[in-house]
Amino acid sequence: MPRIAYVNGRYVAHAEASVHIEDRGYQFADGVYEVCEVARGYIVDMKRHLDRLDRSLRELSIAWPMNRAAMEIVIVEVIRRNRVKNGLVYLQVTRGVASRDFLFPADTKPSVVVTARKVDPAAAAKRVENGIKVITVPENRWDRVDIKSVGLLPNVLAKQKASEAGAQEAWFIDADGTVKEGGSSNAWIVTRDGALVTRPAEHGILRGITRTTLLDVAAKLGLRVEERGFTVAEAKAAREAFISSATTIAMPVVAIDGDPVANGHPGSVVLSLRQAFFDIAEKRPA
Ligand code: PLP
Repeated sequence: MPRIAYVNGRYVAHAEASVHIEDRGYQFADGVYEVCEVARGYIVDMKRHLDRLDRSLRELSIAWPMNRAAMEIVIVEVIRRNRVKNGLVYLQVTRGVASRDFLFPADTKPSVVVTARKVDPAAAAKRVENGIKVITVPENRWDRVDIKSVGLLPNVLAKQKASEAGAQEAWFIDADGTVKEGGSSNAWIVTRDGALVTRPAEHGILRGITRTTLLDVAAKLGLRVEERGFTVAEAKAAREAFISSATTIAMPVVAIDGDPVANGHPGSVVLSLRQAFFDIAEKRPA
């Protein structure tokens, strides 16, 4: 019997079920999910699962894709169409499809997918009989920012907050008060005595390609570089601050948390780095 999935209002063959490539779940992990057990023809703890879904959606300011009663009908229908008596029902809601941009899109409908699958109760009982083994790993679920992963939900939330505060980027601050990096950029300052300062990229930040090339540019321009952490207070008191990324190259930062950096205008060092960048970066004919 072919499996059936529910995707955005339609019951479709599981094998052909798909979401758009610019779905924010796919692009940013900007979505939430629930899994309920189906046992002997009953959905287990559905109320609690839907309560948690409600909370998750509210925390991310994602609207319910349909009302709760309709969602319950869809869940039951997917289980029925797949003839699942024992198994799982999976439900995912994302912020929907929008042209790739960190900020929450306006007027985008959330996407919803519901699938169900059978689990053999005899195999499950066997696992209980045998027990399972575990291994231990360090808690690093939000820690591996050195990998350019699509798990960007914290970045999305930070940049959305920046936008709502009238800013264009958010800087993540470490427990020790130093600046880590931006939601989608690396962070730099130019000190009063003219040194370029940026956090080392060994761990705790993404090693930006633009950052690496800018270090080459700085060397060419004979600028002194210090790869070390800097505090927000140091950044506010600096001669200049700026961010770097492939989309912004070197972009002056003129205010941090509403306070001006130096005189509140783009500085000359960042502008000269920007100007020299293109000459030094690797270039292939497009
Ligand atoms: N840091 C983060 C978290 C980023 O997402 C990005 C780019 O998207 C950067 C830094 C800058 O990297 P690159 O210069 O390679 O664009």
